[in-house]
Amino acid sequence: MSTDPAAELPFFYGSISRSEAEQHLKLAGMADGLFLLRQCLRSLGGYVLSLVWNLEFYHYPIEKQLSDTYCIAGSIPHCGPAELCEFYSKDPDGLACALKKPCLRSSDTPIRPSVFDSLKENMLREYVKQTWNLEGEAMEQAIISQAPQLEKLIATTAHEKMSWYHGKIPRRESERLLYCGAQPDGKFLIRDREEPGTFALSVMYGRSIYHYQILQDKLGKYSMPEGSKFDTIWQLVEYLKIKPDGMVTILADACVNRAAGMIPSLPATRRTGPNSYTPPPRVVTVKEVTPVPADDALPMDCIGFNPYHNPNDIKKFNIQRNQLFIDEVELGSGNFGCVKKGVLAADKRQLDVAIKVLKSDNEKLMKEEMMREAEIMHQLNNPFIVRMLGLCNAESLMLVMEMAASGPLNKFLSSNKDTVLVEEIVNLMHQVSMGMKYLEEKNFVHRDLAARNVLLVNRKFAKISDFGLSKALGAENEYYKQGSNHDPSVPKPKSL
Ligand code: AMP
Repeated sequence: MSTDPAAELPFFYGSISRSEAEQHLKLAGMADGLFLLRQCLRSLGGYVLSLVWNLEFYHYPIEKQLSDTYCIAGSIPHCGPAELCEFYSKDPDGLACALKKPCLRSSDTPIRPSVFDSLKENMLREYVKQTWNLEGEAMEQAIISQAPQLEKLIATTAHEKMSWYHGKIPRRESERLLYCGAQPDGKFLIRDREEPGTFALSVMYGRSIYHYQILQDKLGKYSMPEGSKFDTIWQLVEYLKIKPDGMVTILADACVNRAAGMIPSLPATRRTGPNSYTPPPRVVTVKEVTPVPADDALPMDCIGFNPYHNPNDIKKFNIQRNQLFIDEVELGSGNFGCVKKGVLAADKRQLDVAIKVLKSDNEKLMKEEMMREAEIMHQLNNPFIVRMLGLCNAESLMLVMEMAASGPLNKFLSSNKDTVLVEEIVNLMHQVSMGMKYLEEKNFVHRDLAARNVLLVNRKFAKISDFGLSKALGAENEYYKQGSNHDPSVPKPKSL
């Protein structure tokens, strides 16, 4: 699971407030260049660098940018918080002074998690389980491969999990709830306003109730009128517990929603600014799939991620000819024949498939080869490996596989070399490694892994293909040995 990239830094304090940071710096002696790093309470994934110079405090927000780099406004980006601090230790580049002395956390000061840090593990799991209908290993892989995107998605809806969030209730109902029981100053709740995607804060002060509209700007950031801006509602609430930001009081006790603690669901209302994260649609059956632009689709939104709702239902193997519609479109070709586009009518679903059609000449040898490939593929079931859906023996022998419509990775890379992002490539390579790890765990060697044999479902979802040269290793031949059987082109399985 993803951890904070600053977690290893001994001068990182986690989610502490500005005044707490100043307290730590005071206790550490207020030397020029004394500094610490803390989590930004306003922006997701951001930090604040707190620095002392000339007995004064300076606080510099560090933004996490869309490209996953970190940057103090107006300065150059860095690939991580550690690299950023290293840079400013050599060159003040606009700061009050260079970073000279880290203000180290004492052994009895652990990194303070934010409210979200302590919730997100469970929320991620619940979300992936519910929304993508995944469990077990497929769920773990989904979480590993998509943690940053998922975290962002979960963070923007995390307020729904908080005890102070009451969903869509009228103003009068919020007043009734706040007047129930004790009425301390700062007792508060958040509710949805009539207008979709907008929120209100209702707070008790001097036994009266004040209602504030929470504003949202064009970038999707939340704020109180004329107050600071926040990426999420829960960050705004946490901040208002420390500073009134124009309100009559700071927030104190939550007016608890008795139904709180529900599993987070995709809210009907969602911010719509250009920076906002659009949630993937829930995939239930082929018919229910809302079309997603290929570029935005996460692997788990694609049918190919987990096509079998019932794991016992995997691979019918024998496919009847009348279940198969073969398109004339050729996706590719090889020695064996060609790969065609098609549709498989399976149960109540229709799946886009790729069909490897054996060409008739030289049939016996080729047929054996294709059967061997089918036998290997039959034993594999992983989102990052092209799955075989079955064999159909009709006018030719046909191997039916799930479709990876964006074609081989090598072609994709060469035709998109000007637009493809390093992060996209890293993400795809990570998926290929997860597929290879799976193969190793199942004791298979692929023996022909190359970009041409990695197929793309879309630019964010890769699958390893072409098992024509693959081998299953039995217990007795766990390693390839030097000798007559040795094939020098074949790597040892442990080197995969
Ligand atoms: P192969 O002999 O398995 O390497 O397949 C030859 C070519 O057919 C590949 O390079 C792809 O262009 C295409 N192809 C093979 N399998 C698939 C698939 N499952 N989905 C889409 N295209 C495929």
